[in-house]
Parts: sequence; C-alpha cells; structure tokens
Amino acid sequence: MIRRDEPGQRSETVRRANLSAIVREIHTNGPLSRSGLVSRTGLTRSAIRSLIGELVDTGLVSERRSASLGTPGRPSPLVRLTPDSAVVLAMEIAVDSLAVGIVGLGGTVLELIRVDRPRGHSSVDEVVDDLVELASVARARQQVDEALVGIGVAVVGVVRRTDGLIAMAPNLGWHDVPLGDRLGRAMAVSVPISIANEADLGALAEHRRGAAVGLDDVLFLSGEVGVGGGLIVGGQPFTGAAGFGGEVGHIPVNPTGSMCRCGSFGCWETEIGEEVLLELAGHPRGGGRNELDAVVREASDGSVAALGAMDHVGRWLGLGLAGLVNVLNPRLIVLGGRFGRIHPFVIRSLEAELDRRALAAPRSMVRVVATRLGADAPLLGAAELAFEPLLADPATRGQSRGVAGEPAPEPFMRPISSARRPSPDAGGEPRRVVA
Ligand SMILES: [Zn+2]
Repeated sequence: MIRRDEPGQRSETVRRANLSAIVREIHTNGPLSRSGLVSRTGLTRSAIRSLIGELVDTGLVSERRSASLGTPGRPSPLVRLTPDSAVVLAMEIAVDSLAVGIVGLGGTVLELIRVDRPRGHSSVDEVVDDLVELASVARARQQVDEALVGIGVAVVGVVRRTDGLIAMAPNLGWHDVPLGDRLGRAMAVSVPISIANEADLGALAEHRRGAAVGLDDVLFLSGEVGVGGGLIVGGQPFTGAAGFGGEVGHIPVNPTGSMCRCGSFGCWETEIGEEVLLELAGHPRGGGRNELDAVVREASDGSVAALGAMDHVGRWLGLGLAGLVNVLNPRLIVLGGRFGRIHPFVIRSLEAELDRRALAAPRSMVRVVATRLGADAPLLGAAELAFEPLLADPATRGQSRGVAGEPAPEPFMRPISSARRPSPDAGGEPRRVVA
C-alpha cells in the first residue's frame, strides 16, 4: 500500500534537501554571500537566513565579513565552512605509493603523507597495516578524530562500490579481495568507508576542483603502470552497474597486440602503458618512476629515441581516444597520472590522430589537457567520496559524532615495525561500507 507523506514529514525532507544544497554549494565553490546562495540555490532570502542559522548551530558554517577590498560600502558577510568541523580520511593505494590525507570540509587539505611502496604484489594485510599506520600518524598530528565523518579510499583496481570488494587489481596481484571489510576491521571506527577506483576518483576531483570544473561530460585518463579511466557523464560519475565500468585501459585495440595483465591481449594499455614507453625509449621495461623521469628529461633534451617513444604513445592515445570521443562526446579529456607528465610530448601526435579518426562534430567540441590537481587527484577524489554522505544530509551532523566514543583504539598507536593485525572484533561496533 502506498501512503502519502504526512505534511510534516514532507517539509522535513525539503529542509534536509535545502541544507544539503547550501553546504554543497559552499563546499564546492568556497565562501558565498547570502545573496550568492539565493541565486545559486533558488531558495528565498528568508529560507536561506533560517537554514544558515541551523548550520551555524551545528558548527559546520560561520558567517562573517571579509576585509574590505577598497570598494565603497561594507562588504557582505560571507557564509563559509569551518574546515575542521567535519573531516575525512582519504587514502590511496597506488602502484608506487601509499598515501593518507586528512581533508576538511570545503576541501582544505589538513595533512597529506605519501610513502613509496615497492612495485609488485603485496598482501592485503601488509597494505592495510601500512594504511592504518599512516592514518595514525596523520590523526596524531591533526587531533581531529571528533570531527571524522568518513573514510574514502582510491585503489588502482576494479572495485565493487557496494562493499569495497576489489574484483581485480593486476598491479597489486589482487583478485576478489574484500578490502572494505578488511580495512573496516583494522581501522576500528564507526564512520562509513567508501572505496572506488583511482581513475574514477581522479575524475571526480578534477570535476569538482580541477581542470574540469563546470563541465558535465569529462573523461579522465590516468596512467601508472596500467591505464585507468574515469567518466563524468551528464554531470554524474559513471560507474556501470556495479562500479566496474570505465576500464578503458582494457578496450581491445590491437588484434595482434601483446598479452595484457588482465589476461586478454592487445588491450589499449599494452600500447600506451608505461612499459611500452620505457622500452621504445631504450630503458628497462620495469624501470619505474626513475626511468620514466629519465625518459621525460631525454625528451626535453631532444633525444630522438625518447621523442619517438612519446610519438608512438601519442598516436595510440589518439586512436583510443577517437573511439571514446565518438561514443561519449566529452567536452574535456584530462590526462592524469603519468599521462599528465608526458602531455607536452604526446599532445601533437595525439591531436593529429584524433583529427584523423574521430567524427568531426564531437572532435570539434573536445579539448585535451593535463591534470590540474597532479598526482594527488585520486586522493582528493577519495576525500570527496567520503564527504558525500555528509553533503547529502548535513542535518545528521548535529546528531552524531564520527568516532566511537572511546579513546583512540590501540591499533593506531603501534609502530610500523611491530605491526600486527588487530582482532576482527576490535572496536566493537559494526562498520558500514557504503557506495
Ligand atoms: Zn587488458
């Protein structure tokens, strides 16, 4: 039986949606005046006044005048978020590194620690232990546990959004790893943990705060050893049915191509991945970041081999992108990760191939640029993911606090050398893993 909402219930839903609209606007755009909020949200001035009053009571926002800029009259007070009123832990599991950050509401990075990790296969236990340890260092420095509202994790792998299962992460050697569950147990906090693919999160970050602000159709291409893709379609992140979508690196492009880590062959990744670039430039295939730095230097110095390798990768980039441009009609393609670094050397052959192969109409609408957020784009996207529940319903902030009301759990205190796995029961409360 369908029951009509009671009027009171309906107005409560509207109130929460309006609070969300205000917090989201300021989180994304920075401090705004009341009249700025009126024009951006379409709410009345009196509604804005009352909602801001509520948000001030929760501690999430404050309202004050900024210093006059020499213009006549007093400047309007600006409504601004209080960065340490709500914070998230952002984590990234990359091929070469692990990173943990603490990010405040409004996107203020309060802490960021990145450490190198050896390439190749790692056990999930080692990675989780190291993330927990890095998080404990960051939390000890910032002392913001009371304000923790979520944890977001970017992983270089194919992720099921509902529970953070890593279906496949070839560069870590992971198949069907329940990372959400493992991390939830190890972190011993009661806040939601959200896990997603690193390129999906790079796309989210560039869309919200980077090169793609204001654009609704965007492709973010990230490259380390492998190649990842993140899509924003019609202003919304594209995930596919379960979160496995957007794996553009494994589009088959070469029927006679070489074996790919995914088990197939001739994937786009096998023509534009780091190993091809290194090999064609005369460097060892598995050389990693140092060898890549050397190739970039050589290309800058005009080395024929290095520029030829860049040219090859640029042409294959253009070929694959031509197909994606025809299918998706994006406004912007953002080259992230390693592709951001080699952008100046590949852009000419890439654009020439796009001109030759893409349909004229969508081709004429798309630009190809380097990442604006650099190597931290996925980490910043993980923070945005973790803020999502709060942004969707900021009214909850007044009612609950993130960390279970107990002293910092023991696992955060141990030195990395004596790391051991915390008991699955540590913390006591069930942890929620959300999309
Ligand atoms: Zn593949």
